[in-house]
Amino acid sequence: MCPSSQKPITATDEPEFFGIDHYGFPRSGHDDPADPTEYYPPYFRSEHFQRFGYHVQQLRGGFHWVTSGGYDAAFVVTDDGVVVIDAPPTIGENMLTAIADVTDQPVTHVVYSHWHTDHIGAAAVYGPGVEIIAHRITRELLERFPDPLRPLPTTTFDDDHTLVVGGTTLELSYRGENHCPGNIFIYAPAEKVLTAIDIVSPGSATFMHCDASQNITGWYEAQKQVLSYDFDFFVGGHHMHFGTYSDVQACVEYFADVLDGATAAVERFSRSDALLSVLDGGGWDRVFVGTENWINSMANFTTKYVLEKQTSDGRLWWERLAGVTSQTKYHAYTVLESIRLERPRPNYRLSGENPPVFLT
Ligand SMILES: [Zn+2]
Repeated sequence: MCPSSQKPITATDEPEFFGIDHYGFPRSGHDDPADPTEYYPPYFRSEHFQRFGYHVQQLRGGFHWVTSGGYDAAFVVTDDGVVVIDAPPTIGENMLTAIADVTDQPVTHVVYSHWHTDHIGAAAVYGPGVEIIAHRITRELLERFPDPLRPLPTTTFDDDHTLVVGGTTLELSYRGENHCPGNIFIYAPAEKVLTAIDIVSPGSATFMHCDASQNITGWYEAQKQVLSYDFDFFVGGHHMHFGTYSDVQACVEYFADVLDGATAAVERFSRSDALLSVLDGGGWDRVFVGTENWINSMANFTTKYVLEKQTSDGRLWWERLAGVTSQTKYHAYTVLESIRLERPRPNYRLSGENPPVFLT
C-alpha cells in the first residue's frame, strides 16, 4: 500500500467512545484516578499504617494477614510456634513486629510460596534456626541463583505436603507451572484460608502483564484451581486487600473477558481482508489500530472490548476493580502473545484458503 494513498488521520476521525486515547492507552473518561473508592481500605489512612507502613489483621483462629499496602503475607500462630508464609522485602522486619503484636511465640517454620525476591526476599529475617518448606523447583532455583536473604529451603516436596505444627494444618500442593515454576497453593482447611500468590489480586486488575507471569495458560488454569478450593479468605500477595470467594470470582471474570477479547482480536486480525479495511478505512480502525504494529493493534482492540464490556453485575470493569484503565492494555498484550505461543494454533491455513481457518 502506497503511503500517499492512505487517508490522512484527522481529529474528526476520533470516534466517540469510552476506551482508548490517541496513543492507544486506556482512558477512564473522567479526571479522577479510575479506581473504585472502596479499593482504599480504612487501615490505609490510619495513623498506625502511615507511621509504620504495615497492617496486621486476624482472619480466623491463629491465621493472620500482614500487608504493606502493595504486598501481603501471612502467619499462623500455633501452640508450638509461628508458621510464616513468605517475607516480602516491602514488609521486611515489620513481619517480626506484626507477629510480636499478637504473640510471644517464636517463628519455627517458614513456607515459601515461590522463589521470587519480591515475595520472599526478606526471609533471612526469621533467622537460621527455622524450618523452611518450599517446592523442589524453588530450592533448585535458589541454588542456581543464590541469595543470602533467601535462605535455601530445608524441606522440599514434589506434589503435596501436609505441614502440621501445634495442632494447625497447612496443606501445600503443586499443580504445575503457572505464574512461575514452583509456585504452590497453601491451604488452611480449619480456617478456610487459601494462599496462592500472584494469580489474582483481590479488588484489582493486578500488576501489568498478568503480574509478570511466565506461563499464561497455566496462570489461567491456576485461577480455576483457586476457585476449586473451599475458602472464606484469600491471600494473593497483592495489594491492599485479602479477598473473599466472590472477590476472586470477579478477578477471574475480568481475565476471562481479556481472553475473550484477545481471542476475537486474533481471529479478526489474522484476516488479510480485515487488514485491508484497516488500511483503507477510517475512524477507530485507522486511529487506534492502523497506526500500531500487529500485536499492539490487537491489544487496542482487546482493551476496547474489555473497557466497554458490561460485566456480570451490570457495571463496567473500572467501576469494580482498581487499575483496569491503566493495566488492561498490558494484560491484553501478554494474553495475545500467549494465544500465539501457548494455545492450540488458532489460525491454520488450508491450501488455497484465505482467511485461515480457526480450529477449535
Ligand atoms: Zn512472583
